[in-house]
Amino acid sequence: MEAPRSLYLHVPFCPQVCPYCDFHKMLRNEPLVAAYLGRLEAEAAVLAERFPGPLDTLYLGGGTPSHLDETELARVLHAVRSGWGGLGGAETTLEADPGTFDLERAARWREAGITRLSIGMQSTQDDVLRFLGRSHSGAEALRALEVGLAAGLEVSVDVITAVPGQDARGDLEAAGASGAQHVSVYTLTVEPFTPFARRGVEVDEDRAADDFDLAEEVLARHGLARYEVSNHARPGFESRHNSVYWRGDYWLALGPSAAGFEPAAPGDPPWALGVRTHSPPIKRWLRPEPAERTPVDGTTLALELLMTGLRTREGVDVGRLEARTGVDARQRYPRALEVALEHELLAFEANTLRATRAGTRLLNAVLRRFFEEDPAGALAAGAIQAER
Ligand code: SF4
Repeated sequence: MEAPRSLYLHVPFCPQVCPYCDFHKMLRNEPLVAAYLGRLEAEAAVLAERFPGPLDTLYLGGGTPSHLDETELARVLHAVRSGWGGLGGAETTLEADPGTFDLERAARWREAGITRLSIGMQSTQDDVLRFLGRSHSGAEALRALEVGLAAGLEVSVDVITAVPGQDARGDLEAAGASGAQHVSVYTLTVEPFTPFARRGVEVDEDRAADDFDLAEEVLARHGLARYEVSNHARPGFESRHNSVYWRGDYWLALGPSAAGFEPAAPGDPPWALGVRTHSPPIKRWLRPEPAERTPVDGTTLALELLMTGLRTREGVDVGRLEARTGVDARQRYPRALEVALEHELLAFEANTLRATRAGTRLLNAVLRRFFEEDPAGALAAGAIQAER
């Protein structure tokens, strides 16, 4: 396996706190941002010394990284350049909220080395945006997409479906027609301990399934093909950074609560094929407390690669899976495979295993069969997934 050439950098500050969100995020204040930047610079220097890159992909996620002002963002980018000699050679993405930029600002981001914006539009409907606790209007969201494209940046847009009262088709049509090269569609989920959970908000599962199909149909008509369960792109505009996660390659992580996957180091168990890292939340990260390290063995990695790979159009090459993990999928999961192949939920094409259209809709149930056949690995893989 190649050394890591991708970096996820977490910026936890947001202009508002959305009631459905369970990411590590907070409202900003000046002393906290200053402390964050200082710690980030130190952490970047240490990490780059261990893994000098260069970087192919850089993803500034959050939180809302575009909520940093120009000087603060310049410091973040400088920390990456000082450590790795540049930003992402193939792709540098900045997550941005519609209310946080105009054409001038987007053009400055492009000059600073950002190549791609991931814009949290969510919906174009004002009542839906109000329900979601967003601070921008539908018109502002659409304008943000135009502005990003006019600045010469690649644009990815996030849409949330299955929101009560939403015209999902309207939102998907608007995203598809906007000219954005990439659309991520997420079903509203009510995560434990969020304000939505406390308010007892419920998601209609039938509606969620209908919207899932609708997304594929509407976006395909606009030239954006589903290439991962939640992601649609024009040809050649698939997210390079996220593909690193789905393929199970290594990536580095910086910032509070950020998760990475590194090669095993001296001192890790000899059976470890890699190590999941998870930084603590901001208070402990500032102390500074180090990231938690969880070594991953072949069985766990095989289940993880199936979990992420079967979500993608690319699928899982079981020969490569065996070479990487030592797990022969046909021998290890005979029953799960037999049932899924028989019901045409999964299909083999030579050595590549893929979810069919029906299998993609029922993917969790399909994967559960693999877990049941390998409970020890499933336990570890489940714990790791829950941590992300
Ligand atoms: S802007 Fe994004 S990260 Fe911040 S609270 Fe809302 S959904 Fe969460």
